[in-house]
Amino acid sequence: MNSVESKPNVKFKSVSILSNTEISPNVFLLSFKRDFAFKAGQVLGIAVSSNDDARLYSIASGENDENISLLYNIKPGGKLTPNLAILRPDDTLWITVPFGSYAGSDEPAYWIAAGTGIAPFYSMFRSGLGSDKVLIHGSRTLDAFYFSDELLNDFGPRYVRCCSQQEGEGTYHGRVTQYLESLNNLPEDQKYYLCGSAEMVVECREILLSKGIPFSNVVAEIYF
Ligand SMILES: Cc1cc2nc3c(=O)[nH]c(=O)nc-3n(C[C@H](O)[C@H](O)[C@H](O)COP(=O)(O)OP(=O)(O)OC[C@H]3O[C@@H](n4cnc5c(N)ncnc54)[C@H](O)[C@@H]3O)c2cc1C
Repeated sequence: MNSVESKPNVKFKSVSILSNTEISPNVFLLSFKRDFAFKAGQVLGIAVSSNDDARLYSIASGENDENISLLYNIKPGGKLTPNLAILRPDDTLWITVPFGSYAGSDEPAYWIAAGTGIAPFYSMFRSGLGSDKVLIHGSRTLDAFYFSDELLNDFGPRYVRCCSQQEGEGTYHGRVTQYLESLNNLPEDQKYYLCGSAEMVVECREILLSKGIPFSNVVAEIYF
């Protein structure tokens, strides 16, 4: 649960939805036309009514893409997402300006995501920052590796899918944390970007620190 402190501090503008598609059970990709610049890794505040508090979402499209996409899952009983999921093309969405300092770079790095936490890394990849990166994505089920065709095509063996509840060809059977535990000789001079729930971020950070990665090289975006 999180919100941008609402009225009167938050300035919303309205956009018209282009698509809002269920791409996996309870997970949606919503898009609208881009008419602003942003940095890959940034978030937007969004709401279905201008009177609501804004909730934060990572932009899941490239800096030069024509449309802005947001990847979200429905939180049962949540204030925003059940109402968001019923919006249709041409319906209105309220958005803030993009903001946030979770930014990628050209340097070699590890990108480690759980669930919809893949969004900022997909944005960085679409913005040309995918080379020299190892992308590790964790999910419970095989149908939740969003954008995997495109990512597999580009990253090849540098894209690792960790699936905790199902076994599948080309995937590691286990949680992201188990996969990280199994790695030896992780480079200590690279950055490790984490994105997901607080629990995932805390557990992954502990493992990285125990493997000698300096605290300053672990950069986290927590979804709460
Ligand atoms: C920087 C950042 C980026 C993010 N990016 C993304 C993203 O790209 N994609 C994504 O899917 N999420 C993202 N999130 C998370 C997202 O903002 C929220 O988790 C989501 O908006 C919550 O949806 P909601 O309003 O429907 O649920 P909420 O109303 O926030 O409720 C969440 C859950 O808490 C329960 N709940 C609510 N109130 C109470 C209460 N009083 N007591 C007990 N339980 C309660 C609800 O039943 C529900 O299950 C991000 C968060 C941050 C901080």
